[in-house]
Amino acid sequence: MNLMFKSTRNEQNSVTASQAIVKGIADDGGLFIPEKIPKIDFKIEDIVDWGYQELAYNVLKLILSDFTKEELEYCINGAYDEKFDTNIIAPLKSVKDVFFLELFHGKTLAFKDMALSILPYLLKIAARKNGVDEEIVILTATSGDTGKAALEGFADVDGTKIIVFFPEDGVSPVQKRQMITQKGKNTFVAGIKGNFDDAQTGVKKIFADKSFSDELKEKGYIFSSANSINIGRLAPQIVYYFYSYAQMLKSGNIKAGDKINFTVPTGNFGNILAGFYAEKMGLPINRLVCASNENKVLYDFFKTGKYDVNRKFIVTVSPSMDILISSNLERFLYHMCEDAGKTRQLMDSLNKNGNYKFDIENEYISAEYADVSETFKAIKNLYDETGYIMDTHTAVAYAAYNKYKNNSNDDTKNVIVSTASPFKFAKDVCFALNDEYKDIDPFDALKILAKLNKSEVPAAIKNIDKREILHKDIIEKDGLKDFIISRLV
Ligand SMILES: *Cc1c(COP(=O)(O)O)cnc(C)c1O
Repeated sequence: MNLMFKSTRNEQNSVTASQAIVKGIADDGGLFIPEKIPKIDFKIEDIVDWGYQELAYNVLKLILSDFTKEELEYCINGAYDEKFDTNIIAPLKSVKDVFFLELFHGKTLAFKDMALSILPYLLKIAARKNGVDEEIVILTATSGDTGKAALEGFADVDGTKIIVFFPEDGVSPVQKRQMITQKGKNTFVAGIKGNFDDAQTGVKKIFADKSFSDELKEKGYIFSSANSINIGRLAPQIVYYFYSYAQMLKSGNIKAGDKINFTVPTGNFGNILAGFYAEKMGLPINRLVCASNENKVLYDFFKTGKYDVNRKFIVTVSPSMDILISSNLERFLYHMCEDAGKTRQLMDSLNKNGNYKFDIENEYISAEYADVSETFKAIKNLYDETGYIMDTHTAVAYAAYNKYKNNSNDDTKNVIVSTASPFKFAKDVCFALNDEYKDIDPFDALKILAKLNKSEVPAAIKNIDKREILHKDIIEKDGLKDFIISRLV
């Protein structure tokens, strides 16, 4: 029996995992969720000697159950290979009293690579399984990291095109340069005059525009999504929660069955949601700490039950978390009430009024936040004490974790989910370490950071300022559709 997926807004029409991956988002605008969250069929102590690929297979087969063993192995082996600069794929580092799960060893130096390295493979097979002949057009809104990781994943993949929209003034200089220098004849990139929420809302509108998708279908195209609304993004992210546990077992820091905490720097709520699924599948987790920056809608929601985007959007030093509408929270809300009608109501209210109220009784997630000055202090203090350098997003989580620990007296062993290489945000990291670096050139910062970190500049961004700029479009925030049409037809 295959595990089926239904919409958060309508429990009726369920689809297989491969269909959910092709579609990206449900026809009613809801997100696909598993009808029943599967339990692991291995013992937790068994994972201690598994490599990343073996663990990925044993987790993914439970969720993507209509993929055959051969298909999944093909996807996993294609994704998690020498593209990563370590054969451990996602190393766990013990620093002071916490563990850092480094998810930034892939091609674009951010955790998005963990899922976007495998998504093109999953999508290709999913299309084949479902007899899809049209060319698949991946539409992506990015707060900086998804865009580049998706571009790398899909560049020159047969049968696909990838279109990325990013907030022109809302990403780091390195992030922007990574995207606009992307090669590949099927890649399209545009900056939009707006913030991430504008980009994401624009893309969601296009997904919901039935007549537009019919029009494109006639021309031989179908849309899909590489954002974490796609279940093909979420599922691979569950794996590394188990993998951290395996590494802690192996190093003797825990015994099988001991519970651990994870603190997750959160934006669109995809990463932490994968942690929630891991817990539901049987990973011994005590708490997931949701860490926000100053755009702390999620923190306020978990404290008060009121979700409210009617506030100022703040551009911070952790741009990939500068998000007011956290898409994947919808999935969590559904799991908390198991009522599609209610979820639809909340989302309607969010669309209409920019807010909703939901009395959240929840034993899984705690929330904290850190502002820019706390984030900078966290980077500097940890570096001074240990020599370990965090990126700005990871530092939000580290600062938030320390608040959580003080406020809760919970001293469960904690993993900080480390989502980006400090090199991706080199300028701000250097500034955090020393005021003298306030106004340095963002590309000079790479070399300075390499010195401080006693390492090389990662190959992925070495000399990035010298690469040719291939994508120059800047569009209005209501100009997404025109851009797509101009590129496809
Ligand atoms: C995307 C991203 C986040 C936020 O992850 P979500 O799954 O959107 O919550 C945090 N840090 C970095 C570096 C990211 O790229």
